[in-house]
Amino acid sequence: MTTTLRCARCDSRIGTAKWCTTCKVFLCAACVKRHGCPAGDHKLKPPRSVWVFLVVLAVAFLAFGLFGYILDLEDIERAEIPTTSIDELTPGTRAKIFGTIDAQNQVVIDLRGSGDDHYWVPIPFNLTDGTGSVRVEVGPLVHSSSFRVIQRGLHDGDWWSGDTASIIGEVKWANDTEYIVGEYVARTPRDFYRIGMGTIGFLLPGLASLILANPFYASRNRRIKLHRDKADDYEFKAGPWRPCSDCGEPLDPGFDVCPECGLVVRIPSKDLGSLPTLELRTSFADLPSKERAFALGLGVIIPALFVALSIWLAFFSGLSGGVCLLAVSIVALPFAIVVVPKFMFTQEITLGPEKIESRKGLSRDAIETEEIDRLLTVRKSGKTAHSLVTRGDLAVVFGPGLSEADLEAAGQWTSDLSEALGVVYHDDISLEDAVPILRRWD
Ligand SMILES: [Zn+2]
Ligand SMILES: [Zn+2]
Ligand SMILES: [Zn+2]
Repeated sequence: MTTTLRCARCDSRIGTAKWCTTCKVFLCAACVKRHGCPAGDHKLKPPRSVWVFLVVLAVAFLAFGLFGYILDLEDIERAEIPTTSIDELTPGTRAKIFGTIDAQNQVVIDLRGSGDDHYWVPIPFNLTDGTGSVRVEVGPLVHSSSFRVIQRGLHDGDWWSGDTASIIGEVKWANDTEYIVGEYVARTPRDFYRIGMGTIGFLLPGLASLILANPFYASRNRRIKLHRDKADDYEFKAGPWRPCSDCGEPLDPGFDVCPECGLVVRIPSKDLGSLPTLELRTSFADLPSKERAFALGLGVIIPALFVALSIWLAFFSGLSGGVCLLAVSIVALPFAIVVVPKFMFTQEITLGPEKIESRKGLSRDAIETEEIDRLLTVRKSGKTAHSLVTRGDLAVVFGPGLSEADLEAAGQWTSDLSEALGVVYHDDISLEDAVPILRRWD
């Protein structure tokens, strides 16, 4: 949903606007720069965009929570395996049993080390239920450090003879006896899944941010509706005007000196309609070498990591294909949305006397040429970036990836535009000098 708002005073399209709490309308940054709301000493508020931040936060948290849940799925699967009584074990199958640990030693599964350096040292034992007893071999469990594999026992983490335990493992047959090779140990048959704090810890804040975003979003929509109702009747509309080339104040066409900032106003020396239309396209070969290396790195290394991750998930995690795909997409999605368009897509720029457009991937910025009040070309160690900004703070920025000839042509076009609009062209300035101009500081 794109909403095009126009300043209640000067009718320019606005990106970031100020909200007048008395008139209940949005005003562009240029119109309120000097004296606030022209209709009086009214309180102005910045745009309410907290909801965007909250929604982004919610999506991130929910994605991580979902990923945690996907990892939990194998635990849930294990918890749902039905329990087999020991007298019904069949060699060659995998089974879950539940009974009492029976061994010579008191400590059967020992938790050693501490903090992140813990690991398990188990010894073989017997497990007895009402129907019989079976030997539990522990080979796969030795030195495991995962609490998903062995749940903490009752005795400071350790498991003792006499504790009840549920074991999942492979039933085998040797020397006329059955035994089971333990793979997972939990206190009860259901305990193989315990609600992961990781999962809840992400899902809950995710949901909370989503709920919190709601009133902010509603309030923004209320403001937009009020603005639509009231903007037409705003008292201090600028009539036919052109902007002061310095402070942006809308001036009657007759003025030579801006009554606001006292500067002699530049008179347009060119007809806007006489400007040609330029079509420019970036190409990968014209990107600065550092960015090219970075893009190639991201384009080759990151996809390789995704492939490795999918292969690992598919072959070693025991998760089903669909789950793997989901897990990989959750990791890959932010990359696909943010990085690929930034470095891989070409940017197409159209500079025209009516409209200036920039298209890159799915994103599209368009501004009306007439509304431009700031023209800047930042040059830094061989890199050039042209910025065309409207009084409503909408902007088209381009440069990296264009050929020398195109950059030159765009510079000439911008210079012609400066004459056609009577707007100062800040050519060849540093980034430090560009910031106050972009922020409208004096
Ligand atoms: Zn305005
Ligand atoms: Zn007002
Ligand atoms: Zn001025």
